[in-house]
Amino acid sequence: MLQKGWGSIFDHHLYNQPALYAVIGDPVVHSMSPDIHNASFKALGIKARYESIRISKENLLEGVRTLTDKGFKGFNVTIPHKVEMVQIVDEIDPLAKKIGAINTVGVENGKLIGYNTDGPGFLKGLQQFYKQDLLKANVLIIGAGGAARAIVMTLVSNGVSRLTVANRTIEKASNLFVNCEQKGQALTINEAEACLEQFDLIINTTPIGMEPNKDKMPILLENAKQKTYVCDIIYNPLQTNLLTKALEKGCHVQNGVPMFVYQAAMSFEYWTGRKPDLEKMTEIVNTRLLQK
Ligand code: NAP
Repeated sequence: MLQKGWGSIFDHHLYNQPALYAVIGDPVVHSMSPDIHNASFKALGIKARYESIRISKENLLEGVRTLTDKGFKGFNVTIPHKVEMVQIVDEIDPLAKKIGAINTVGVENGKLIGYNTDGPGFLKGLQQFYKQDLLKANVLIIGAGGAARAIVMTLVSNGVSRLTVANRTIEKASNLFVNCEQKGQALTINEAEACLEQFDLIINTTPIGMEPNKDKMPILLENAKQKTYVCDIIYNPLQTNLLTKALEKGCHVQNGVPMFVYQAAMSFEYWTGRKPDLEKMTEIVNTRLLQK
């Protein structure tokens, strides 16, 4: 009887607690995810709290166990854990499996379900502004790391067929198309620069344009055509050197804020089944970045 009584008090206590969510990574101190998720919970009247939790590479498994023991309902995963998380979850969404990286985990009946919203978040953000036919576009992706992989796999899954990846380390660009149902072209950065006029859409996925490489260019735009759409997935700074140069050439440009907002919104929807206010999320991110 005593146990039952305590149990029910405990359940009631739990019931009144906010649902817990987090972003885990190392470092996470500058993450804007708590700002946009907490604002969205509040706006929708959802009793929940989102924190940033630093977990080192060595302590990942133990850290994830602690989160589930504490009753966390979901978490985002950022650098350096996205690839390792594939080995930890109980189930993985097919696209996340193809990408080989997880940025969103939902805890359902004690099971960890892994998703990747980076690629689909990028695509949704792109589709909001890019009004040409993506299926016909000749696309150049610069960089061949985790973000590039998420973007390539998502574009391929959505029928985009004319893909080129240019990277400092060309082997990594070629490897991106291994196990990918759609084969693409791999180039060095110099090779891509020489034939830039053939691309309709150029996407930078390297960190060149961020500190400490803020003043550098991931690729020189001399040969880009005027109507090229240039997209940088960096959002800090809001306008990278690449985007400034692209604007000077008369290109259309897009920064990394839409991708960031959509990937977060998709995580939010997986966890809560509710749609957050994308405009509000965007405003929070822009305001915070403009304050810097
Ligand atoms: P990653 O896995 O480390 O890959 C980085 C890529 O950039 C690699 O291809 C690397 O080339 C290249 N690179 C790095 N430093 C370089 C340099 N100095 N010169 C030439 N190439 C260089 O990183 P990631 O996870 O893909 O993230 C990449 C960027 O995307 C970061 O800036 C991140 O902030 C941004 N991002 C934005 C969002 C968003 O929501 N907007 C989401 C995810 C990531 P090698 O292969 O030769 O090493």
